[in-house]
Amino acid sequence: MDHDDLRHWSKRAADWAHDYHKNLRDRPVRAQTKPGEVAAKLPTTPPEAADTPEAIFADFEAIVPDAMTHWQHPRFFAYFPSNAAPASMLAEQLVNSISAMSMLWQTSPAATEIEEVMIDWMRQAVGLGPEFCGTIHDSATTCTLSAVLTMRDRVTGWDSVDNGITGRKPMRIYASAQTHSSIDKAVRLAGIGQGNLVKIETDENFSMKPSALEAAIEADVVAGRTAAGVILCSGGTSIGAFDPLAECLTVAKRHDLYTHVDAAWAGNAMICPEYRGLWNGVEGADSIVMNPYKGIGAQFDGAIQFLRDPAPQIRSLGLRPDYLKTLGQEQVTDFNEWTVPLGRRFRALKLWFVLRAYGLEDLRNMIRNHVAWTAELCEAVRVLPDFEIVTEPRLALFSFRYAPDKPDANTLNSQLLQSINDDGRVYLTQTMHEGKFVIRFTAGTFDCTREDVMTTLDVLQEMSQTL
Ligand code: PLP
Repeated sequence: MDHDDLRHWSKRAADWAHDYHKNLRDRPVRAQTKPGEVAAKLPTTPPEAADTPEAIFADFEAIVPDAMTHWQHPRFFAYFPSNAAPASMLAEQLVNSISAMSMLWQTSPAATEIEEVMIDWMRQAVGLGPEFCGTIHDSATTCTLSAVLTMRDRVTGWDSVDNGITGRKPMRIYASAQTHSSIDKAVRLAGIGQGNLVKIETDENFSMKPSALEAAIEADVVAGRTAAGVILCSGGTSIGAFDPLAECLTVAKRHDLYTHVDAAWAGNAMICPEYRGLWNGVEGADSIVMNPYKGIGAQFDGAIQFLRDPAPQIRSLGLRPDYLKTLGQEQVTDFNEWTVPLGRRFRALKLWFVLRAYGLEDLRNMIRNHVAWTAELCEAVRVLPDFEIVTEPRLALFSFRYAPDKPDANTLNSQLLQSINDDGRVYLTQTMHEGKFVIRFTAGTFDCTREDVMTTLDVLQEMSQTL
């Protein structure tokens, strides 16, 4: 395939994409595929001879779409959304065509400078002060890992950068039990050990208790352990918990701890001023992560990490070997020094396109609609016989349960969820909340309508009758 073929086939791909999106509602949301089914359709050895674009494209159409779970389906209500606006898809096509490495300013001046400006646009959009700058990583997990590595090295006075952490007193990181597993992973990867991630008690709203945080830090100090940092949750994955940032950050500051806020999902809603009370005090954090693909449609991959001061993170992650020096341009930003991998995609272009193509006003309206329709569905489920709301809506997320009084309610809800997803009209997922198997509902795809959300009600009623 050469560039002339590419021209032809990218037009075919654009037509295919148009039809795919226009007809998504006719497909089951979750793949109805059995394990091994796709692999069985592929040859077991790689081709020796070149295949034609026609044959490759035909196999794509025959094998792939039916075996995918459709994340852009308007009735995808599982996990958190990974939404993709048409303007974002267009930007990604252009990024693919250029296929640059954006590791240094010199290797992609436009990527670096658009990234700097997009971080500043997003900072303003979510209401953070001008003291914050930041960068774009692939995922929230990598942002959190970067923050944890910074916590680790900062608490050793940067000695660990050269000498590692072997032989030191145990280091402790504090987070609530509502934080995402990416925090556990980051603490593991940083060599601190998951056993040194202290899960702080939460209150009746599943928010971290500042007094319990203070007590845990003090107990560790007395026991000769090293308190290194605090990770707070603004919109937890399971049921959407929010920690009281202002109070917890005050405790962390009192102990001179580095702080990171995981707002991977809920950070998007902060473009609407009326939701900002949920992360009140966030401006006291050192590092904040949000995933624009979990709400405003700048598709995966891409996670924004806002940093009050990038210097500590650069001290942990930054290296400048001779072969990466930009000669004659010492003042430019080389974003690879802020992030774990050297190679970086040009992720800022889709933010630029999305923010311009819809404007903050349209994006706010989309998020407000998702929140309002979720609340409406929640009220409708509340009055269904045999259903109970387990956790109230937090932004566009709530959880519920069928037949809560039956002794085998966990099994029944698991069966109900499987039959809902086998039916295919909507896609929902589960969590365990206080020992109960509960079903989560969250709305967030770009093409989702009120009617799509309310379809869930029909599905719940029909599927629960079949149990
Ligand atoms: N934090 C929260 C609150 C999440 O919900 C998720 C994923 O859903 C993550 C972090 C991890 O995100 P990523 O896949 O970008 O690493």
